[in-house]
Amino acid sequence: MMIAVVPVREGVLPAGTDDTIAECDGRVLLVGSGVDQVDLTGRARAVDLMEVGTVEVGRWARQLAPILGAIDHVVLPHCPDGRDLAPALALQLDRPLYSGATAVSPSSVLLARSGGRELHGVRPFGPFVATLQPGIRGAESFDGEPEVRTVRADTDTASGHHAVTVELLPPDVRTMDLSEADRIVGGGAGLDSEARFTQLARFAEDVGATMGATRVITDRSWVHHDKQIGTTGVVVDPTLYLSFGISGAVQHTAGLGNPDHIVSVNTDPHCPMMQMSDLAIVSDANATLDELARLIADRDTAATETHA
Ligand SMILES: Cc1cc2nc3c(=O)[nH]c(=O)nc-3n(C[C@H](O)[C@H](O)[C@H](O)COP(=O)(O)OP(=O)(O)OC[C@H]3O[C@@H](n4cnc5c(N)ncnc54)[C@H](O)[C@@H]3O)c2cc1C
Repeated sequence: MMIAVVPVREGVLPAGTDDTIAECDGRVLLVGSGVDQVDLTGRARAVDLMEVGTVEVGRWARQLAPILGAIDHVVLPHCPDGRDLAPALALQLDRPLYSGATAVSPSSVLLARSGGRELHGVRPFGPFVATLQPGIRGAESFDGEPEVRTVRADTDTASGHHAVTVELLPPDVRTMDLSEADRIVGGGAGLDSEARFTQLARFAEDVGATMGATRVITDRSWVHHDKQIGTTGVVVDPTLYLSFGISGAVQHTAGLGNPDHIVSVNTDPHCPMMQMSDLAIVSDANATLDELARLIADRDTAATETHA
């Protein structure tokens, strides 16, 4: 039997929750703060709720271990909290950890390695902990209300050394996980140099977005692979996607999720990316970025003069 273990912060679920629950056939344990605020109707069959307060992965792992000891296969979403909790849990349970899987079953785990270019198949010999990459598997719907149980966290196991949360900072759009970004600015081969991606990242920051790129760009090492959007990169699901010089190959768009709005700049009005855009701007993406940088600089200068 497999169970999804999903870390919750103040009632908010992380990216990859639905994939992980679906992979575990609808069985999930929600652990964290505000777990009783989460409604998984139609998204799970059986839900265990374990209220354990703010994120302290060492303490959480010790509190979870007695409950999960009887369940052989534990799967967490490969989100930031899942990636922190999974190794602590594997250590407590004395099990192997399979991190960054694209598919998990009791008898087989597929792991994406070498920046997504290789898939490694593993045949586990016994119990394990795994993390599942968000967005690849997709969600499943389950009929009716899920069966909900409250699980009491043992406070005796909570003592000991562990990292504690000192302060919670809002995500920094420059460094945040692409899979969690609400606004993304993507760049492709229509941008003419590595320096353009520094300019693109600055523009992204100016509009409160995170920068992503196509595989052509990450293969040139102009941008690190963890910024590659697509089937062999990061699967994203922003509400707004702004694309600059991207053709919209299926391997890219299949990893785009379902944005509410897509705006594209491209010299080819007929390419797939332009066809799927709400606003398709036929223009040189490099010149457009220069112009946007100039407009933002003018705006900032005007704002400084107003405050002076
Ligand atoms: C197994 C496999 C896995 C893959 N996985 C991924 C993946 O995860 N992610 C991914 O992105 N790709 C992936 N690819 C690659 C994918 O097939 C495409 O090659 C890639 O997405 C194309 O990137 P691009 O749009 O930047 O480049 P191109 O397809 O070369 O498109 C460049 C675009 O820029 C436009 N353009 C050119 N000059 C300008 C200009 N001056 N101003 C504005 N527009 C301009 C062109 O009209 C064109 O539309 C994968 C391929 C394979 C075979």
